[in-house]
Amino acid sequence: MSNAGAVRVAVRVRPMNDREKKKKAECIVEMKGTQTLLHNKDSPGGDDVKRFTFDHSYWSYNKSDAHYTPQEQVFKDLGTDVLDAAFEGYNACVFAYGQTGAGKSYTMMGYGEEIGLIPRICEGIFERVVAETDETTKFVATVSYLEIYNERVRDLLTNSPAKTQLKVREHPKTGPFVDGLSVHEVTDFEQIQELMDLGNDNRTTAATGMNDTSSRSHAVFTIEFKQASFVAGIPSEKSSKINLVDLAGSERTSATKATGQRLVEGGNINKSLTTLGLCISALAERSSPSKKKKKGHFIPYRDSVLTWLLKESLGGNSKTIMVAAISPANINYGETLSTLHYANRAK
Ligand code: ADP
Repeated sequence: MSNAGAVRVAVRVRPMNDREKKKKAECIVEMKGTQTLLHNKDSPGGDDVKRFTFDHSYWSYNKSDAHYTPQEQVFKDLGTDVLDAAFEGYNACVFAYGQTGAGKSYTMMGYGEEIGLIPRICEGIFERVVAETDETTKFVATVSYLEIYNERVRDLLTNSPAKTQLKVREHPKTGPFVDGLSVHEVTDFEQIQELMDLGNDNRTTAATGMNDTSSRSHAVFTIEFKQASFVAGIPSEKSSKINLVDLAGSERTSATKATGQRLVEGGNINKSLTTLGLCISALAERSSPSKKKKKGHFIPYRDSVLTWLLKESLGGNSKTIMVAAISPANINYGETLSTLHYANRAK
């Protein structure tokens, strides 16, 4: 696989929402090719412009704009890369990062007809499985779907209350896994779709009862598949894991004036996001030929449940993609700037 181990980073801006329109917010994001520009017109010295260059800068502000990026384009750019990697036997990880309401779920899962990356990748898997299955090549695919909330793992594909506090353990050969997590074999896209719906419903149900935990939990959808083939009579097996991660909102706890329970949660969310940032930037540093390689660079996977669990699909020969979702409005300047800095460190 070309560019193995490298991290690819895309930024996507969403349209102005009703709240922002009501507040007569101004659009302060501009995109030129792969560059994202962030304006601060309130800066004391006049308009201060910060420029960032990413692998992709996706404009989704206004559908009538010539450079508006539909869901299909995002899949073409990022999703097909994930599929190629997986069919070559590599692991892959896609993360959506950003403040609550910036467009993470829209990009990962999608809404209604606006189908996101996760269902498109799943569909793509089965198209290729059908195309490549013959007398010599067979595939087995399984999925699991979990949520990490306050450093605890909850199975989203079961209704059993015993499955809300699962633990991560480490197998000496195969690496970290969630003890007791349900794993479902799937043979076509419809079956995956049903499981995805069940998981999304479970996530939402819990969210309504617990004050919208969905924006404060990380959701990890995992597809694992094995290809067994006979090449010139010799059996060979390839296996790969694709992790698709909708991260908790990145807003700083100070901004939400959290106290008590919320503060603990905020600390845990920040810890996971900070650790993920550290892991990804350490990996980006490792794989970049232009950056000086630090010997024995330590990657702190075990510092959070999220990164520990994803250890095998971050770095090494894995394909890692980050999509940073941002708001276009001046009233979100601080959060947008911090998201762009986070994404910039991952390159
Ligand atoms: P998050 O998951 O980050 O909390 P959502 O994905 O739920 O945010 O997005 C918030 C709202 O903005 C949703 O109504 C969604 O449909 C809309 N939205 C987000 N990104 C886009 C986009 N690129 N194009 C059009 N609408 C978007």
